[in-house]
Amino acid sequence: MSSTVITNIATLVTNDPSLGDSSPLGLVRDAAVVVDGDRVAWIGESSKAPATDNRVDAAGRAVLPGFVDSHSHLVFAGDRTEEFNARMSGRAYSAGGIRTTVAATRAATDEQLEANLTRHLAEALRQGTTTFETKSGYGLTVADEARALRIAAAHTDEVTFLGAHIVSPDLAEDPAAYVALVTGEMLAACAPYARWIDVFCEKGAFDGDQAREILTAGRAAGLGLRVHANQLSYGPGVQLAVELDAASADHCTHLTDADVDALADGRTVATLLPGAEFSTRAEWPDARRLLDAGVTVALSTDCNPGSSFTSSVPFCIALAVRDMRMTPDEAVWAATAGGAAALRRTDIGRLTPGARADLTLLDAPSHVHLAYRPGVPLVSQVWRAGVRVV
Ligand SMILES: [Zn+2]
Repeated sequence: MSSTVITNIATLVTNDPSLGDSSPLGLVRDAAVVVDGDRVAWIGESSKAPATDNRVDAAGRAVLPGFVDSHSHLVFAGDRTEEFNARMSGRAYSAGGIRTTVAATRAATDEQLEANLTRHLAEALRQGTTTFETKSGYGLTVADEARALRIAAAHTDEVTFLGAHIVSPDLAEDPAAYVALVTGEMLAACAPYARWIDVFCEKGAFDGDQAREILTAGRAAGLGLRVHANQLSYGPGVQLAVELDAASADHCTHLTDADVDALADGRTVATLLPGAEFSTRAEWPDARRLLDAGVTVALSTDCNPGSSFTSSVPFCIALAVRDMRMTPDEAVWAATAGGAAALRRTDIGRLTPGARADLTLLDAPSHVHLAYRPGVPLVSQVWRAGVRVV
């Protein structure tokens, strides 16, 4: 195991207020980081950095924790360009949305699914994402869901069973039978590959009672809970997530005061996914309202071929700052420490001694440039578990 010091960092985001300027980002100026093996060993002023085996000059760049993208749907095949083009061109589009991707995914080989996943992961890594969660949900049969999770599990520990994405087209006339399948045979086949179970609690997908049944079964099988909640309309998803102590309620676009109060009182993180509102020209989630109420907020991409086909966390940060009234500091925190909280992880999303050495160097002197210079490829180096990978 060798040690490396990265010196001459203009702004270092640690996400530990005790290490830096006592802001939530714990900013250290003129900083250095020592990486020993796969861990962060030391943080401090550049002039006080200890001797190490190797030395990297950051040349005045900003360094921040690798992004933690806690919500994506990357095991899929096919493409929905026409659907997006029609939506953005004001034309009616009546194809089946998620069902289109389900048909393409079922028809794909394992090799095709894995190649597509790998390509999108490489794309995300180049943009600074060092941890990602991804879900099934485009198979909707026992074999196709288990296959998606097996492929995902070869690439990340954060794998989520989303058999309850929509009612399978095969059982469209009998949703109760599909819920029984998801909570029975499908769950048994999928749980060995997954850490989490998720449900799309929404009109047209699963109602509150069905979502409760699915989540409760998942918990009994040893899985942690996540919920697609309150994306398209008001509904029971958020309060159900908090009641069941889900790690995260994702989307949170349509919230009542009672929903916000529940999130503020519980441990469930509100994960906002502005790529979805961007790509569907929908109303933004009110991040300011959640933050002002004391809710823990995460930002993620929701990368999927239908409603948010971006793998770029920096793009989501820029949207959150411009359109959701998050400060640049809040958005960067939400995309790093917030994502880690949404996965109930303390080893990532921060740069503190003992944390995993996942870090991103920007061709800019400060993290604020992620929102100040939208669309510009600022990520110049990415380190994951102590190894430079970009
Ligand atoms: Zn999603």
